[in-house]
Amino acid sequence: MAATEVPPKVTEREAREVAEAARETEWRGESFVRELFEGRLRLDLIHPYPQPDPEEEERARPFLASLERLLRERVDGDEIDRTGQVPPDVVDALRAIGAFGIKIPREYGGLGLSQHSYTRAIRLVSSVDGSLTALLSAHQSIGVPQPLKLFGTDEQKKRYFPRLARGAVSAFALTETGVGSDPAALETRADPTEDGQTFILNGEKLWCTNGTVAELLVVMARTPSKVVKGRERQQITAFIVETDWPGVEVVQRCHFMGLKAIENGIIRFINVRVPRENILWKEGAGLKLALITLNTGRLTLPASAVAAGKRSLEIARRWARERVQWGAPIGRHDAVAQMIGTMAANTFAMEAISEFCSLVADRHDYDIRLEAAMAKLYNSEAGWQIIDDLVQIRGGRGYETADSLRARGEPPIPVERMMRDFRINLIFEGSSEIMHLFIAREAVDSHLRRAGALASPDANVRAKAAAAVKAGGFYGTWYPARWVGWGRWPRYAEFGPLARHVRFVDRAARKLSRTLFHAMVRFGPKLEKRQAVLFRLVDIGAELFAMAAACARARSLRSRTAGEDDPNAVADLFCRQARRRVDALFDRVFSNDDVATYRLAQRVLADGHLWLESGLVREALPESPVKPS
Ligand SMILES: Cc1cc2nc3c(=O)[nH]c(=O)nc-3n(C[C@H](O)[C@H](O)[C@H](O)COP(=O)(O)OP(=O)(O)OC[C@H]3O[C@@H](n4cnc5c(N)ncnc54)[C@H](O)[C@@H]3O)c2cc1C
Repeated sequence: MAATEVPPKVTEREAREVAEAARETEWRGESFVRELFEGRLRLDLIHPYPQPDPEEEERARPFLASLERLLRERVDGDEIDRTGQVPPDVVDALRAIGAFGIKIPREYGGLGLSQHSYTRAIRLVSSVDGSLTALLSAHQSIGVPQPLKLFGTDEQKKRYFPRLARGAVSAFALTETGVGSDPAALETRADPTEDGQTFILNGEKLWCTNGTVAELLVVMARTPSKVVKGRERQQITAFIVETDWPGVEVVQRCHFMGLKAIENGIIRFINVRVPRENILWKEGAGLKLALITLNTGRLTLPASAVAAGKRSLEIARRWARERVQWGAPIGRHDAVAQMIGTMAANTFAMEAISEFCSLVADRHDYDIRLEAAMAKLYNSEAGWQIIDDLVQIRGGRGYETADSLRARGEPPIPVERMMRDFRINLIFEGSSEIMHLFIAREAVDSHLRRAGALASPDANVRAKAAAAVKAGGFYGTWYPARWVGWGRWPRYAEFGPLARHVRFVDRAARKLSRTLFHAMVRFGPKLEKRQAVLFRLVDIGAELFAMAAACARARSLRSRTAGEDDPNAVADLFCRQARRRVDALFDRVFSNDDVATYRLAQRVLADGHLWLESGLVREALPESPVKPS
């Protein structure tokens, strides 16, 4: 360990054990992406592309129309950004149309709409203001309504749903100063009283969105450990906490690069008495609850990214047509046209992913955990690239604030704000790195089940021998089958010009599963540490998923559009570009500079090559931004 490194409070093994204990081990339904990693293109799981329920769509129509009107007539994103506040009358108006209870069942006063309708609502909101999206989604994607719907008792639902549907704001409180991506070090504690009927909550939560205005919180806290098979097992439990209870305190409102109006803060709990009946699900299930909640909760961000893509396309289209430089509209210059073409192609794929995930989330025979994680990862990364390109296309105006543009008499197009607001999407609700790890863990799961004992340091010789026999039997047929298939046969003709791309997905899925297997054989248990290798494999899976979704959606839209505007043209460009990315990723799975890069990073962390940092004002940075506790 380098001299200045902070010693970990929990070991890597403990952190992994906590995460593993929270993992859902059973699959609740089919999954297109899971099959992809197994080397199987299960086209039937994505094509025909799912369609919304017309009756439910009809029911959602008046709400979506009111929401759109409200956003158009009463919400000024620049003002919200400038003042750092969503006007209270806008929040009240949102309450009045039911925007705080979109998915809350009708019997409890909510709108009882589907995930798909919720996604459409979020897309509308995100097209106007990011802080407003954060308010609504922190409340009902991850705040109390979602886990209450999934895990609440009838009594809890009766008590809280009507309040939540009327607009009592809620929030989700997991993060602490020492607990970001890794919940194992959670310090907030809830200790039972002697009679076991009440828990005494103590601790402090960081960056709780809506926390400064919320009436209700879902709080993850450590409860007393249990001994399972002779070993202590840490317990994390989820509680519904009311913020007007004695001992709940808002310590500070936090401020950020963007989303200037989110009501995000530090919440402290001092001897807060929480009744046992406010446990959500059961004692010790808090982390699992958080993960399951996030499976659907995470679908908000991909929808916001679609809104960003669509808005960017609109701005780029108009600007690149009217702005003339070097004797031509800038959209005629190849470099700018390349960005616009890619922007259109990626926006189409992002929407195909987001819509697909929302529609299958409403079905009960589909397990969306991998699809949702990929949607979050893919759309937030692709959305960021789109906004970066948009800033470039707008040139200096992309960097200038809307207010400054307005003051100069130019249209106040808020690209600068869009960029600031968007960046957080790659960090919260599971950072891109954590999404890669989550997907990789699920991708290797079937192999671990079959042959995990071979690589496990805990397995004895007998267990390893049994695992070898089991694995040998399975892989004897599985592996050769990953080399043969019909991926070059003229199949999938119904996809017309996209059929060749579907065939590519078919072939590449088999190659992906073989390569994953090769990586497991080559690196053994050390594969877990080779994140760059794993991440490339995950990225290949994500590209293949995006291609399949794009082809299936284009096929389903074909009858509605025609001529030059055939969606096949957009899907075709997306697939061409995705195939090049997939080929490049495969090339670099084993042939790369990962080891050299890791070594240099470790040298840098050990204060090597300090000469690289010379030539600056000395000691301009505070010594330790985060207090090691
Ligand atoms: C505006 C905003 C709103 C938020 N809202 C909420 C909320 O409502 N409720 C709530 O509970 N939290 C909230 N958060 C917290 C948010 O979820 C965390 O910021 C996020 O989980 C990442 O944690 P961290 O910032 O501590 O980063 P860290 O976990 O410290 O990670 C730092 C970097 O290291 C990477 N990293 C970490 N571990 C690994 C690993 N094993 N392998 C590879 N890379 C790794 C991360 O991806 C990241 O790039 C919010 C944060 C912000 C900024």
